[in-house]
Amino acid sequence: MSDALPDAPLVLVVEDDPAIASLVCAALDSRGLRRCVCATAAEAIAAAAERAPQVILLDLGLPDADGIEVVRRVRTWSDDLPIIVVSARADDADKIGALDAGADDYLVKPFSVGELLARVRVALRRVSHGAPAEAATFENGALSIDYAAGVVRVGGAEPHLTPMEYRLLVLLARNADKVLTHQYLLEHAWGPGQVGDLASLRVIMASLRKKIGPELIQTHVGVGYRMVRAE
Ligand code: CA
Repeated sequence: MSDALPDAPLVLVVEDDPAIASLVCAALDSRGLRRCVCATAAEAIAAAAERAPQVILLDLGLPDADGIEVVRRVRTWSDDLPIIVVSARADDADKIGALDAGADDYLVKPFSVGELLARVRVALRRVSHGAPAEAATFENGALSIDYAAGVVRVGGAEPHLTPMEYRLLVLLARNADKVLTHQYLLEHAWGPGQVGDLASLRVIMASLRKKIGPELIQTHVGVGYRMVRAE
């Protein structure tokens, strides 16, 4: 039984496997988080709307629909409710499909409880930061970006970034903590009507990571990139 406080963050656990659901619930309870469990996509969509959770942990293989459908539906009314996909499928296509539909992050089963809690913590921190996309400046460890001036600083230095590196950095910063897929970056960083290619993206990201500090940009092999917050 959970002894979470009534104002503790609510995590919506969407999982049709009772053993995994109870493992996840025990982990959330250990951190004093509230949780609500749904075993189908239909229940999950209804609960996401009615209960207004702070985070959704979403299994992709559900009995009534693909979990991606839950992501799509939730994104019709909320752009920023964090959705962490939890899936047994190691298949990249499913993870990428869910991320492209608007999920923030993913965990592949089997996962450790520590890993699960770390992802939930990141998601909750992102929510508590409030509309980061509206801020005029971005600070993360030694990195700062002044969007209006288009100036990037790392420590005291101002590294020279190419226009494409700058655009990619801004996309990652505005979506900090979120995994952005290759497809997303290719569509958003290149100008209108332009389509970048994966090989160029990799080269530019390697250069950008070197300039701003590789620890701030995680590489998700075969999936994409994420800006992580400096601790
Ligand atoms: Ca399942």
